Amino acid sequence: MDLTDFIRGMPKSENHVHLEGTLEAEMKFALAKRNGMDLPFADVAAMKASYVYHDLPSFLAIYYDGMKVLQKEPDFYDLTYAYLAKAASQNVIYTEMFFDPQEHLKRGVAMADVIGGITRARHDAEQALGIRSQLILCFVRDLSAESAMEALDAALPFKADLVGVGLDSDEAGNPPEKFREHFAKARAHGLKVTAHCDVDQIDTLQNLRTVLTDLSLDRIDHGGNIVQSPELVAIAKERGIYFTVCPTFSGTLRRTEEVPVDIVRAMLDAGLNVTISSDDPAYMGSEYMDDVLIRAVERSALTREDLITIARNGFESAWLPEADKAAMVARLDAYVNAA
Ligand SMILES: [Zn+2]
Repeated sequence: MDLTDFIRGMPKSENHVHLEGTLEAEMKFALAKRNGMDLPFADVAAMKASYVYHDLPSFLAIYYDGMKVLQKEPDFYDLTYAYLAKAASQNVIYTEMFFDPQEHLKRGVAMADVIGGITRARHDAEQALGIRSQLILCFVRDLSAESAMEALDAALPFKADLVGVGLDSDEAGNPPEKFREHFAKARAHGLKVTAHCDVDQIDTLQNLRTVLTDLSLDRIDHGGNIVQSPELVAIAKERGIYFTVCPTFSGTLRRTEEVPVDIVRAMLDAGLNVTISSDDPAYMGSEYMDDVLIRAVERSALTREDLITIARNGFESAWLPEADKAAMVARLDAYVNAA
């Protein structure tokens, strides 16, 4: 079996995907029509042609503008179900999905409609397609700390529908310690905590150190610059930290001279626990899990053993009971043994 077929058939977990980043141009037009909105694009092709970015801020401007069509509970349902159906078609059997509620609350959407629509789709997709999923509330770090706390407080009545909180958006000037109280409060309510440490940010290594040691978060999203610091690599390995790496996005960004060209390869070679995810596939050439992994084989010189390791890490890093994770790893092992 060649590696492409091996990847397509492999049971997988995706632990770093932003639901709003799965909002395909076709669905944007459909939701805009349903909600009586005009979009400043003639058609899908013109909209997709506008997805041009060169760094995190220029990407985020396009991303936030696009999600304005999400207004009502059924919109969040349709968005979530479409992603889960796509993921299930690629043998993703488990996923942990981010959402950015502050961006919806500030447009007057109720938290109950955001989480309600997503949760209803999660249940329906598990029933119909067998894909299991959980939800992570992300703080938009370039909005105020007060705004993030308001979002957390608004979400706590629905905490049974959440597994954790995360931190995303523009890292410049918004270090992780800005959200110290938010992480502590989330933990007090039984939620897990993770944070984006995007590649090549200002104070990248300091922010990695903060999330690894001071805040002691449960996982790190991206985090590729860690390979610049043997000391931080050692701490991450000691703590058994998992990294949700998204090579499609970080592969498009400028490289500083200190960082190896291929972050996935460098992290694997450093012995770190790497998982691979699609991040914001609708804005990244509609490349979902299989596409990202297939591309990574060449980009990062991945072997069959690397792919198995990455898939196993995906399940072992999941925020699930140990028995559930073991059952998913057993499915992977059975596939590998038969393939
Ligand atoms: Zn992300």
